[in-house]
Amino acid sequence: AVDVNDLYKAYGKQAVLARVNLTVRVGEVIALLGPSGSGKSTLLRCINHLEGWDAGIVMVGGRRMGFSGDGKPLSPRAIAEERASVGVGMVFQQFNLFGHLTALENVAGPLRWVHGVSRVDADRRARELLERVGLSHRAHALPRHLSGGQQQRVAIARAIAPNPSVLLLDEPTSALDPELVNEVLEVIRRLAVEDGLTMIISTHQLRFADEVADRVMFLSDGNIIEEGPAHEVLTNPRNPITARFLSVME
Ligand code: ATP
Ligand code: MG
Repeated sequence: AVDVNDLYKAYGKQAVLARVNLTVRVGEVIALLGPSGSGKSTLLRCINHLEGWDAGIVMVGGRRMGFSGDGKPLSPRAIAEERASVGVGMVFQQFNLFGHLTALENVAGPLRWVHGVSRVDADRRARELLERVGLSHRAHALPRHLSGGQQQRVAIARAIAPNPSVLLLDEPTSALDPELVNEVLEVIRRLAVEDGLTMIISTHQLRFADEVADRVMFLSDGNIIEEGPAHEVLTNPRNPITARFLSVME
């Protein structure tokens, strides 16, 4: 579903992604671990083409992101269309809901504006998704009247509404009070287990990664220094940097 080849990105002379390679198969769940500043958000934002990169190739659903058929870089408008058509959904640490729209409108709106779905169908789909994330009863609430966990569940409903081929989640529970973390992780777990959604999740929740991820990738200074089956990497890391990071997180 996702194929990243020698992805390189620098701010000035500082390489933030140093020739990253990764492949995610359809239905796979990847947990992206690594210390603050290691490049997790940047990697996810490049896959979604919210940011450009300096070299390397990003393929989603077999399509090379960022370039037209004849190899020319895409305009910002064309990038937005591409993101919608290849189907990349994203969930952010800070939810990023539209503050002036209700939960229902947050989910239905983009379906109409970006994906050209009719109002009736978009509303029906939005209701269905709000029910799946346990928020039917809050459909007409504005984000500021929802808890952080509820807001993040709306954001997840919004991200999966157009049936993306891959869902990227950037530390989806890091901004939440501890008692709200589980309701969000539970929704993500169900998407993985019941729907077989392809996902890349950056997270500091090791137990969740162990339970839900198929594979773990560990980023350090813009390099994937270790990857493998989740349980193996988490319980028996080979790289000393990974081992040290995991030991301080427990
Ligand atoms: P965290 O766990 O804190 O979210 P992260 O792994 O997501 O960290 P990134 O946000 O991807 O890390 O940042 C990677 C590196 O890129 C950091 O050193 C950061 O300071 C740098 N960086 C990110 N955005 C910019 C920018 N706009 N200009 C300059 N440097 C940046
Ligand atoms: Mg980050």
